[in-house]
Amino acid sequence: MARKVFVIAGHGGIDSGAIGNDYIERDLAIELKDLVIKELKLLGISALPDSNMNGLSQTLSWLRGKFGSKDILFDIHWNAAAAATAKGSEVIIPDVSSQFEKELAKDLLKVLVDLGFKDRGVKPEALTARKKLGWMRPVAENVLIEVCFITNATDMKLYQANKHTIAKKLALVLSTYSKKP
Ligand SMILES: [Zn+2]
Repeated sequence: MARKVFVIAGHGGIDSGAIGNDYIERDLAIELKDLVIKELKLLGISALPDSNMNGLSQTLSWLRGKFGSKDILFDIHWNAAAAATAKGSEVIIPDVSSQFEKELAKDLLKVLVDLGFKDRGVKPEALTARKKLGWMRPVAENVLIEVCFITNATDMKLYQANKHTIAKKLALVLSTYSKKP
């Protein structure tokens, strides 16, 4: 049986996430989540959408009981920094990660790097600013993408010009991995 795929916007409702260059992280994440879900549907995979009104803790309770240990939980975020020059993409996985998570994270990151985003690597959660991420706790295949920096104008321009391609390619990677034994 194929692995289920959950595509989640990292912020929702009153939780706006980061803000930069006149963008709100919540809105970017919801838009990309919807684009990825649409592309997955074209590939024959239905990913349950959440309500767009949820912060992390509500999303985690909403997910409870819906996934198994082999299912893919894909959380979408944008990075932010005080320095407007900080740029690029990264994918976060748990400190103790499975081979599946490592490979999936690498292939998701490659989608963005191939389009010209700076490669910031696949990182364990310990190397993130917050050190521990709630998203990494469910017992599943967990990946969190930091698409690029909302605070970097060049990143945002590159993202806006390529978002449909990005959604299509991310969906293709998720689809391939959902079929892995
Ligand atoms: Zn975020």
